[in-house]
Amino acid sequence: MARTVQIDGDSAIFPGDACVHCLRPFEDRVSIYRVKRSTVRRVSVPFCTECLALREAKSPTQIQVERFATAASFLLAWIGGVWVYTRVLTWPFLAGEREWAWAILLGVLAVVILFGSLYLFVRPLSERFRSPETQAVLNAVKIRDFDWDTTTLEFADEGYAERFALVNPRETKE
Ligand SMILES: [Zn+2]
Repeated sequence: MARTVQIDGDSAIFPGDACVHCLRPFEDRVSIYRVKRSTVRRVSVPFCTECLALREAKSPTQIQVERFATAASFLLAWIGGVWVYTRVLTWPFLAGEREWAWAILLGVLAVVILFGSLYLFVRPLSERFRSPETQAVLNAVKIRDFDWDTTTLEFADEGYAERFALVNPRETKE
């Protein structure tokens, strides 16, 4: 069961300065962040070498989905580009010796814009195919919410969350 802990500000003490996922000695800190309206809250979190690698790792399915997304986006963008090219050739006001140059220019522009927007839209879908191990490391700690002077962190492991709460006592105000 996930558990949330609220801390003052944005700097947290992690128990034993150990990896937040597996408690091995930490190798490096990673900034996790959350965006709310136009504000970004970042919290620096310790991870061990293995968990850092898992955070970055892509599952074979994820790689396949990314490849498919790239190929499909390119194919659709290409079809769109060819369509624009043929349309431009029929524009009466461009009739003349340079119409093919305009057609190529606008066709290429259409391919680039279509590919960019399709790719940006389709690619994030591949993140659903992360391995369970990678997902577990990413879920170890998340920023659930924040406001001006507090940050609420969500921990996948309840026992860890309790130890975390003990070393991060909140200054009681009022
Ligand atoms: Zn670890």
